Amino acid sequence: MEKEHKIRKTICCVLGIIIIFLGVGVIGLCLGNQYYLELNTQGECIAIEYGEQEITDIQALCKGTVWNRKGTPVKTKIIGEVDFKKLGTYEVTFEADYKNMKLSDKRTVVIQDTTPPEIELVSNGDSYANPGLGYQEEGFQAIDNFDGDLTEKVKVKEKEGVVIYTVTDSSGNSAKVKRKLIYKDVIAPVITLKQGNEIKVNRGTNFTDPGFTASDECDGDITNQVSVEGDVDTKTDGTYTITYKVTDSSDNQTIVKRKVRVGDFVAPVIALRGEKSSYIKVGTSYAEPGFTATDNVDGNLTEKVKVSGSVNTSKMGRNVVTYTVKDAFGNQTTVERVVYVYEKQASYNPVNPGNKVIYLTFDDGPSRYTSKLLGILDKYGVKATFFVTNQFPAYQYMIGETHRRGHTIALHTYKHNYASLYASEDAYYKDLYLIRDICIKQTGVEPKIVRFPGGTNNTVSRNYCKGIMTSLTKSLQYHGYLYCDWNVSGGDTYSGSTRTSIANSVISGAKKNSVSVVLQHDTTDKSVSAVEDILFWGIQNGYTFLPMSESTPMVHFKPKN
Ligand SMILES: [Zn+2]
Repeated sequence: MEKEHKIRKTICCVLGIIIIFLGVGVIGLCLGNQYYLELNTQGECIAIEYGEQEITDIQALCKGTVWNRKGTPVKTKIIGEVDFKKLGTYEVTFEADYKNMKLSDKRTVVIQDTTPPEIELVSNGDSYANPGLGYQEEGFQAIDNFDGDLTEKVKVKEKEGVVIYTVTDSSGNSAKVKRKLIYKDVIAPVITLKQGNEIKVNRGTNFTDPGFTASDECDGDITNQVSVEGDVDTKTDGTYTITYKVTDSSDNQTIVKRKVRVGDFVAPVIALRGEKSSYIKVGTSYAEPGFTATDNVDGNLTEKVKVSGSVNTSKMGRNVVTYTVKDAFGNQTTVERVVYVYEKQASYNPVNPGNKVIYLTFDDGPSRYTSKLLGILDKYGVKATFFVTNQFPAYQYMIGETHRRGHTIALHTYKHNYASLYASEDAYYKDLYLIRDICIKQTGVEPKIVRFPGGTNNTVSRNYCKGIMTSLTKSLQYHGYLYCDWNVSGGDTYSGSTRTSIANSVISGAKKNSVSVVLQHDTTDKSVSAVEDILFWGIQNGYTFLPMSESTPMVHFKPKN
């Protein structure tokens, strides 16, 4: 019993000692753990790739020598400037302050570009090239994270069926892309149809194909290999199809179709009897002068013509009659007839004619056209002024005729030859008196108004006598004459002028003035015919046409010689 008790006591003692030793050991270890601050990166240099905006991964840790050897992150400050937008080296200090421990660690930060550019090829990487033609670049683009667009710096090299694209950025990073070429003709030939893909053929005529060509990038002209299928029956209306086929040496086929329409494509023709454009007096009766219509297929279609519009002869105005006809195939023709219903100029007050006055004046006649002009003026009850010449001696008698019909005769020139006329003042008056004498002989009256050939401001006279226009404008009054230029021109001596252009020119000019002196020449049919249009417009719009007299306001150009 005693022995057993002794053993138990001994075991207790040993256990107690072990526990005491263990406790002392743990306390000793705890007292031996030292805490310190350290950056989570070793080495002097921190490399940061261009494009990053801040230093994120570097920070201070609080570590223990025995416990917490991995460390706990603590608040870290970075002292020093880093420009993330520039490649380069920057000095910074990492600082931390934690439980009376301080860290101040210098590091070098390097902003670097190690990212290579990227090359992108247009279309797929493998490209077809036509044999014989060689490879044609389809395009590419190179973009670098630092340098931006480097497409211009890409080097392209073609070798043994491979195109190699290389480029290096400013930091020396290179990229390389390959395009494998497959030499094969994949482009079909082209068939071109002369006169296009749709043509019209008149029924009953002969049809011959207008022709075609076929060409291929590899084979060249292969027109003679084209096969043509399809028939055209020109006796029967309808749409026919002709098919053109060709295959190149690489088996690329092209098919083109042409539509041929057979029918009647010629419109009927309407022929008007009488004038297409005519002037009739207010109050007269108007009867349709008649018409015919014929068609190449249907023959006489006169009965089928539809007439629309009518002529109102009770008042002044422009009347349009329209004639329309359609053939059996549907081709339509329309023609118009214009009938101007005119009024004579109303009586007017020659002393106070108002503020819309037009003096029509005609130079260079009389000629073979003067008689027609007098007829037109009579029709409208209008008097005009004629600056006459002896250029057409056979029509001298028209000076007398014009005078007797109430128009004003004025003087222009006898010969209308600048060189002899403007050689000297003396020469001028010699010429003027020759035409004056003819006028007196024809009319018994001496004209009082003169117009200088070329106008007062002509410069052609400089060639023959310096200053003559200036002195003539002064001396003319001592010879008892007035002179007059113009403020509206018909432009009728331009070779391109027409009846319409002359009328339009006079009308637009007259609209701008309260008093217009219009220059025209009664030496061409177009100028004389235009007078009818001018009178119709003027009377309809309330203008008064007057012959010139000594009390008319004279238009004067400034002499240039
Ligand atoms: Zn003239």
